[in-house]
Amino acid sequence: MSNIIAPNLPPLREVIAKYGLDANKALGQNFLLDEQLLSRIAAIPGELNGVNIFEVGPGPGGLTRALLRAGACVTAVERDARCIPALTELSSYFPNQLTVIEGDALTINPSEHIDGDYHILSNLPYNIGSALTVKWLSEQQWPPKWLSLSLMFQKEVADRIVAKPNSKAYGRLSILASWRSDAHIAMKVHRSAFTPPPKVMSAVVHIVPKENPTGVSLSTLENITARAFGQRRKMLRQSLKSIEGALQALETNNIASTARAEVLSVEQYIIISRYLDNKASQ
Ligand code: SAM
Repeated sequence: MSNIIAPNLPPLREVIAKYGLDANKALGQNFLLDEQLLSRIAAIPGELNGVNIFEVGPGPGGLTRALLRAGACVTAVERDARCIPALTELSSYFPNQLTVIEGDALTINPSEHIDGDYHILSNLPYNIGSALTVKWLSEQQWPPKWLSLSLMFQKEVADRIVAKPNSKAYGRLSILASWRSDAHIAMKVHRSAFTPPPKVMSAVVHIVPKENPTGVSLSTLENITARAFGQRRKMLRQSLKSIEGALQALETNNIASTARAEVLSVEQYIIISRYLDNKASQ
């Protein structure tokens, strides 16, 4: 796959017309047709030649073709059966580089379809973006088999992933992401770049897994953050009182029980969770 000679592909608008891929709102279909933009997004994970990529929702194949041109081996899952013939045609231009699975990304484990490690990249359908991200960040095996996530979200969700304490966007998703990864906004994308344009702006977040802090279970951390942010206007002594040992954890670790969820750092949530896990194992 070295020194790739990119074939001349038909413009994406022609592909859409040929296969009748009118955007289906229920499937979150907002297509990207600007090939330069698509190449910039495809470059976010880094060098792609011979690298495995799992792509969610290739649609008419705009991002997919950018990845293939850069020499990636792409496994793509698409829910809309109408797109499969267009993707089959695309794979004929790049022999042995593209595997298309017709299915629901929420129920598919990429590791069952890809040998070795891989990057995940997607212009995500907005309605399942958070659910997929939580699923990938919550994997039991850590570090996971994926090397990075490069994901397009509506800007508001991207902001929640990278948010820091003392901000409105800071919450469960920020804490999960910060606990398990380094995440940053790699690119903002104007709504007008999409066909049809969505109502809101978008951004691509780049997420790279990091080592878990020891002695903390995901379930405990999630339980704490769910309660704390479930009542984010309340003081912690109120929102956490139903979790056995939580108020003691605050006191022992000099965390004010009068504080509200959004002022605590990720490290403080980890300290509380570790305290509870230690206690449970005694
Ligand atoms: N990658 C294309 C692009 O950038 O132009 C299309 C992106 S569009 C925002 C989202 C794609 O995800 C659509 O093709 C849609 O059919 C597909 N999709 C929606 N729900 C899905 C699911 N649960 N599993 C897999 N694909 C899904």
